[in-house]
Amino acid sequence: MRYNPVNGKIIDELKTIVGETNVVLDPEKLAVYGRDEVSEADWQHRPEVVVKPESAEQIAAIMKLANREMVPVTPRGAGTGLSAGAVPMLGGIVLSVERMNKILELDRENLFMVVEPGVTTGEVQKTAREAGYLYAGDPCSADSSFIGGNVAENAGGNKAVKYGTTSRHVYGMEVVLPTGEITTLGGKCVKDVTGYDLVHLMTGSEGTLGIVTKVFLKLLPLPQYVADLLVPFDDMQKAINIVPVIMTHGGIIPTSVEFMDSLSIKAAEMYLNQKLPYSDAAAYVIIEVDGSSERQVEEDYETIGNLCLKNGGLEVFVADNKSTQDRIWKARKCYAEALRVISPVYCMEDIVVPTNRIPQALEEINRIAAKYAVKIPCAGHAGDGNIHATLLRENRDEQTWHEVKEKVLDEMYRAVYALGGNLSGEHGIGAKRKEALARFMDPVQLNMIRSIKKALDPNLILNPGKIVDVE
Ligand SMILES: Cc1cc2nc3c(=O)[nH]c(=O)nc-3n(C[C@H](O)[C@H](O)[C@H](O)COP(=O)(O)OP(=O)(O)OC[C@H]3O[C@@H](n4cnc5c(N)ncnc54)[C@H](O)[C@@H]3O)c2cc1C
Repeated sequence: MRYNPVNGKIIDELKTIVGETNVVLDPEKLAVYGRDEVSEADWQHRPEVVVKPESAEQIAAIMKLANREMVPVTPRGAGTGLSAGAVPMLGGIVLSVERMNKILELDRENLFMVVEPGVTTGEVQKTAREAGYLYAGDPCSADSSFIGGNVAENAGGNKAVKYGTTSRHVYGMEVVLPTGEITTLGGKCVKDVTGYDLVHLMTGSEGTLGIVTKVFLKLLPLPQYVADLLVPFDDMQKAINIVPVIMTHGGIIPTSVEFMDSLSIKAAEMYLNQKLPYSDAAAYVIIEVDGSSERQVEEDYETIGNLCLKNGGLEVFVADNKSTQDRIWKARKCYAEALRVISPVYCMEDIVVPTNRIPQALEEINRIAAKYAVKIPCAGHAGDGNIHATLLRENRDEQTWHEVKEKVLDEMYRAVYALGGNLSGEHGIGAKRKEALARFMDPVQLNMIRSIKKALDPNLILNPGKIVDVE
């Protein structure tokens, strides 16, 4: 597809649509919108212009203009993505929803919240909590990521074991289609099988099928009691073997089961500049349980704690108040930032396997790391089979890094597919994993994705160069 550059006439029209102050042309400011949290320069590209609309109508007008002028548009939330999904790889317009940051409604009778896409996930959680409810979406980036970005990525996170990923909390959305039409899919109905499930087609479509302008989110009663366990192990395999044991034991569904390997623990300790308990351990497992009865929560964490001790846990630290819980989660949540201190350039992978295959997946990753002499610290959402495996570049020169990285990724993906897994559990494909997807996904499914994309975006205007190549 050939796209046109953004010319002066287009800029003038954009200024008319969103107002002059909401059109960014300053090269330094544009550079900020030319990257997300992927650290490698290959996945950065400066937009020609950034626009900051404040309504679905303004976005519709921008999309109509972009179709007429054949200019690509890349939607952007907070830019915390880990797959270069919000990076305008082919230039054109970046459409930032940062000004669409209002909480529109909290409906106590139907247990719903209606929010604009530029509200941070943390603000959604806090608003729900203060009203006595739980919004159960909880990516580690919650303090900064936007809810629209969570919907576009079908973000997972720390509570997915019990409550599911973002799609489980999204019952409807207003969306601007690539052609500039505005429509509302779903809404506040808990059940709805009226036609295809378009809400969940949009959820996880990574900004390639529509721009989310309003989201209807499900609320739950706020669990009154929460406890976290931090369990160090002296052996990685023992630690990770505990995951299927916990998941299959006596009907307890923990809220979270997370893990960190020794490199990740050390990195967190260095980054936080504070001594962590048993920081020489080979691995940490972090388990959260919640519920409405204090006794039940206590029974659950005692059962799980005993299981851990019987299966090689060195000790069980129980955190049942906010300040000790925050200390535990700080260590787990700083994983990405902490690794950046060791190696500013890295490649974070997000593989997913059936939960009972995590031990083998980690064995494979360690084998590959040793074979190519690359450090690959691992941490992640063990309870849902999702491992973040991060290849550190350290002192390698550019060419060696590329060569080694490609070999490691290829071998790692093959191992994951052999275990019945997949490329990405929650960070998505974006631009970064597009080539790998073309190699590993069933061609029938790739063609389904291409057909859907072409049907909704005939000019391939919205977020081109992501997930699949269409032409
Ligand atoms: C430290 C750290 C921890 C993280 N932890 C987690 C985690 O636990 N779980 C997890 O799932 N992810 C995690 N992530 C990844 C990231 O935060 C999520 O993918 C998040 O959902 C991205 O939201 P965002 O607003 O930053 O989106 P962006 O990065 O701005 O965009 C992501 C994608 O969504 C599209 N998009 C954004 N807004 C819209 C919209 N309104 N309409 C349509 N498309 C849109 C973009 O085009 C792009 O394709 C983490 C990232 C970091 C840096």
